[in-house]
Amino acid sequence: MREKKEEFDFPHYEYRRLHCAYIPSTAFVSVRQGKSDSRFIIREGDEVSEGQIIASGYKNAVPVHAPIPGIVSEIAERTMPDGSRAECAVLQFRGGFAFEGKEQVYTDYRKKQGSHKLIPLIRQHGIINTFDLDNNSLAEQLDKAGSDNYVLAVRLFDFDPGCSRDGFISSFFTKEVIEGACLCARAMHTESLVFFYGGEDFRLPDEKTLEALCDTISCRFIKIDTRFYPSGSQRVLEKILQKNTVQHTKPGSEKAFRNFEKGKNKALFIDSATAYAVYRCLCLSVPFTDTVVEVNGPALHESKMFKVKIGTPIRRLLEECGGCEKEPAKIIINGLIKGTAVSDLDIPVTKYVKTVTLLSADSIPDQRISDCIHCGFCRKACPLGIQSDRIYSHFVNKTPLGADILLSAHLCDDCALCNAACPARLPLYQTVSKYKEKQDAAQL
Ligand code: SF4
Ligand code: SF4
Repeated sequence: MREKKEEFDFPHYEYRRLHCAYIPSTAFVSVRQGKSDSRFIIREGDEVSEGQIIASGYKNAVPVHAPIPGIVSEIAERTMPDGSRAECAVLQFRGGFAFEGKEQVYTDYRKKQGSHKLIPLIRQHGIINTFDLDNNSLAEQLDKAGSDNYVLAVRLFDFDPGCSRDGFISSFFTKEVIEGACLCARAMHTESLVFFYGGEDFRLPDEKTLEALCDTISCRFIKIDTRFYPSGSQRVLEKILQKNTVQHTKPGSEKAFRNFEKGKNKALFIDSATAYAVYRCLCLSVPFTDTVVEVNGPALHESKMFKVKIGTPIRRLLEECGGCEKEPAKIIINGLIKGTAVSDLDIPVTKYVKTVTLLSADSIPDQRISDCIHCGFCRKACPLGIQSDRIYSHFVNKTPLGADILLSAHLCDDCALCNAACPARLPLYQTVSKYKEKQDAAQL
């Protein structure tokens, strides 16, 4: 199938440092930190310490830790960054920190723990895989992928060209990300690790450092041309993995990658933020209570990269950027292409929030939808040849459609290029996704 590419022109922000956001006096900690809801094991009036587990998880519902010490003043429903509603524990700050501001002691888990102990540890820390919008439990995925037929692939750049957060983590915490990724590779019993990197800011570690970090794991670094979208999708990266365009090879990796070249292997994909979270939780023994969030957009006085406590309302981050320069018209969470538009400034930061973009009225194009004009742009834009216009028409206007065209929806890799191409601004990608979800649910 022919690959079609689209070039985008997004604003690019340069971040020179990571700002520590103020500790919130009130944190809103949601049970929905990933794909599924966890269950609160605390009640109103309880006192909690920093890092204490306040919600337990099973399978894709991950454990949630208290980001600040304090009192649970309320358990109430709130709007989440993905637009859904979920229960939140409202924590009023009180008491002292057990981890924040304390010296962090490094533990070399590559030597200390057998690989069979790594998955329970990752599960206990409630780490999610933020590579795609599914935000599944990382421990679940590592468990399922546990065989040497798997390759662990790490995307070191951002999927959305308008975001810089994953690229920032890769550039500022390169060694930590590599070490975290090596621990994941060990947990899933694979010795094959591939890093996809892009952008000018990323510097490859030297051979000696790499050798020390990777130990027995064979790792490769593959440079990606990130000027094109969707250069970070799983489908595109898998294709590149099969083509095996290698820029850097650690001695011994030829053997480890031989099988993938024959197409026998599968790959588990994670992003740099996930690998970094594994490093912090395991090697530094800190609970997963903060994350890195990029706050940007033309309506803001200044764009910043924050280390922020889970449960902090996004209103606080906007204030720390110096407020707004222009009248804000829209807040988008996790990128302009596939992100969610929200209107509530008190939405709390969760584990899957990567970016918050504040748009001004003059930066938002006309968004009224109109009738399809049958221009065919959506079909031309789709790298997989999916007829999203016909699938849309089938669902909205009940137009009859052949089973083969409907089934092609399963190929969709959610790049949203059809939406970008459509002059009528129809929600094509969302319709195709909905159909896929419906079919998947029916098969369960
Ligand atoms: S979102 Fe799906 S249907 Fe739309 S262009 Fe991408 S692959 Fe094609
Ligand atoms: S791009 Fe939009 S208007 Fe054009 S054919 Fe596709 S759905 Fe219709």
